[in-house]
Amino acid sequence: MPQSGLDLLAMFNINEIRKDFPILSRKVNGKPLVYFDNAATSQTPQQVIDVIVDYYSNYNANIHRGVHTLSQEATDLYEQARQKIQAHFNAKHSHEIILTSGTTDSINLIANGFSSLLKKGDDVIVSALEHHSNIVPWQMLCERTGASLKVIPMNLEGELIMSEYDKLISKNTKLVFVNHVSNALGTINPIEYIIKKAHAVGAAVLIDGAQSTPHIKPDVQDLDVDFYVASAHKLCGPTGVGMLYGKQDWLNKLPPYQGGGEMIAEVTFEKTTYADLPHKFEAGTPNICGGIAFGAAIDYMNAVGFNNIALYENELLEYATKALLDIEGLKIYGTSKQKTSVISFNLDDIHPYDVGTILDKLGIAVRTGHHCAQPIMDFYKIPGTVRASISFYNTKEEIDALVTGIKKAKMMLS
Ligand SMILES: *Cc1c(COP(=O)(O)O)cnc(C)c1O
Repeated sequence: MPQSGLDLLAMFNINEIRKDFPILSRKVNGKPLVYFDNAATSQTPQQVIDVIVDYYSNYNANIHRGVHTLSQEATDLYEQARQKIQAHFNAKHSHEIILTSGTTDSINLIANGFSSLLKKGDDVIVSALEHHSNIVPWQMLCERTGASLKVIPMNLEGELIMSEYDKLISKNTKLVFVNHVSNALGTINPIEYIIKKAHAVGAAVLIDGAQSTPHIKPDVQDLDVDFYVASAHKLCGPTGVGMLYGKQDWLNKLPPYQGGGEMIAEVTFEKTTYADLPHKFEAGTPNICGGIAFGAAIDYMNAVGFNNIALYENELLEYATKALLDIEGLKIYGTSKQKTSVISFNLDDIHPYDVGTILDKLGIAVRTGHHCAQPIMDFYKIPGTVRASISFYNTKEEIDALVTGIKKAKMMLS
């Protein structure tokens, strides 16, 4: 049953939500913390902290190998977390979900796997909007295999130019790697189109969902995407754990990434046979507590509701964009109509680092610099930006505090 935005927002009680996050009531430099660095890492609700404490207090044990009770309990909860992730992303099978140490790890796993499948004459396409972790592994892959790296260019609004993508794609294209949402600008990329076009020439597609998953609930079967990756710490979970979704056929085709315990079926010095999915890609003792807490974070986000999150964050984005543009000399980078609640900006010719330092003195956390996306900064011919990334637990009052802080910085620095 479709609900109007107002109904949904009425069910979304920001004061109650903020109580879930203990860190939001701390002070920084004597001022209430205003946390606008959510695109770098999100804060952790008590519900997830409790799961972490419960794990180490009650059933800390290594998984999959033990006959004893603790090991069985830990194994069950770890596998339940995998099923929660499967359900959240609507993967067909739970063994299509590989638990990794994060987005970077997931991307490297795929890049390594494709080393044996690419050759000279093949093309790999990435986009101009990528995070360094989505550029460097492909450069390394191309160096190893002789394949060429092609880049989908962007326009001044910070959008990928699809007519240029159409020209790049050919029968030589083997892989396309694009982020769902740009971490530096917040642009939501047209991944449905990108996937369809790639599949028409038989290329595989990996989507980096590190920035989309805090705002959008992706359906990997609906998207028909080959690989989708994300990090728990950007969606209210802990650091050091993430996921890789891969279509079963692809995961069976790719060689294992790391050798070690857990990933084998049988080992002799003559030959090792590999374990079935997902264990083939999960060598060694994983981040067990982190995996279980990742599942709890997904439960938490779904309880808040992704419709609520999108409606509320859009409202904050509009409010903040308007208020920031009222500040003379402030320029926003990334003005796509399709964007998440990320605002990258500069203030006259003032260095972003100086703005960030003054804001920190006022208790306001923003990120400054190139945001691991130097090619985007080169495109705009700037050293970096100040980035305020807004989450569903932020408020209009906090945006007002940011605006006041920026005006203060402008006065002090110009
Ligand atoms: C944060 C981020 C990454 C890297 O994630 P890690 O958790 O540091 O591995 C990759 N891509 C994008 C778009 C990101 O925002």
